[in-house]
Amino acid sequence: MDKIIIKGLEVYAWHGVYVEEQEKGQKFIVNATLYTDTTRASRTDELEDSIDYGSVCMMINDFMTKNRMNLLEAVTNCLARKLLMSYPTLEAVTLEIEKPQAPIPLPFQSVSVKVHRSWHTAYIAFGSNMGDRLAYINGAIDSLSSDRCCEVKKVSKVVESKPYGGIEQENFYNGALELRTLYDPKELLELLQGEERHAGRVKTEHWGPRTLDLDILYYDDEVVQTDTLSIPHVDLQNRDFVLIPLNEIAPYKRHPLIGMTTKEMLKKLKDSYVSRQ
Ligand code: ADP
Ligand code: MG
Repeated sequence: MDKIIIKGLEVYAWHGVYVEEQEKGQKFIVNATLYTDTTRASRTDELEDSIDYGSVCMMINDFMTKNRMNLLEAVTNCLARKLLMSYPTLEAVTLEIEKPQAPIPLPFQSVSVKVHRSWHTAYIAFGSNMGDRLAYINGAIDSLSSDRCCEVKKVSKVVESKPYGGIEQENFYNGALELRTLYDPKELLELLQGEERHAGRVKTEHWGPRTLDLDILYYDDEVVQTDTLSIPHVDLQNRDFVLIPLNEIAPYKRHPLIGMTTKEMLKKLKDSYVSRQ
């Protein structure tokens, strides 16, 4: 990806743990690498088709002088997110903030915190089989759309399906959506669980009835395996109520472990139904 690089931007601000740093302030040096596709701007030669680095510098200065934080880690992370939220064509940013006059009683050049942050693409499965099923689903989609760290890119049609797992209950409405997000997988799971709670979902039996179920199917091509999170979502390749809507919005997305596209997994699943009959 192309880069626009800002080196050595000086900002006077008041971040730090010590009272002296908070009262007197000090000089900070900012280095930023902005990742963006410059092909359109190179064709049109118009500033509006690129990222105005002058305005990025002003935003950095504005953010750093108007906020006061204890830790450089907090400043760097919050500022990286702010930049990504503010410039739609900014895909990723590497941001380093140096403190050349940090309170260290020894000779040193500089200390800094450097982070790399980017937009990610996640696929989310949604489902509901209690109450006003469409209202719960649409409520969650609206809420994701209004989150500044998320952008809902595509939403599939809703399919109605029989419940999974052999428990007597209402039919499900299921679908899938593509989300551009700044959240990491754990933050995204927390956001989705917050939406489930907001929809009044109470934990009942596994595979039991629910007002809203939001599952992370994919997060870029990452493989995550922890006690609370499994990405890609387990068993997605065996669930037609996941693959049918996913096939509508991401037929060529490849499962990072199985190596098959959505379209190929759906065909295999359908073929397996036929061979079982
Ligand atoms: P299910 O979606 O399988 O019907 P639940 O919605 O009740 O079950 O989720 C149970 C747990 O699954 C959650 O508490 C969550 O920690 C865990 N989980 C693991 N991987 C994922 C994922 N990819 N997306 C959502 N939840 C997940
Ligand atoms: Mg779930």
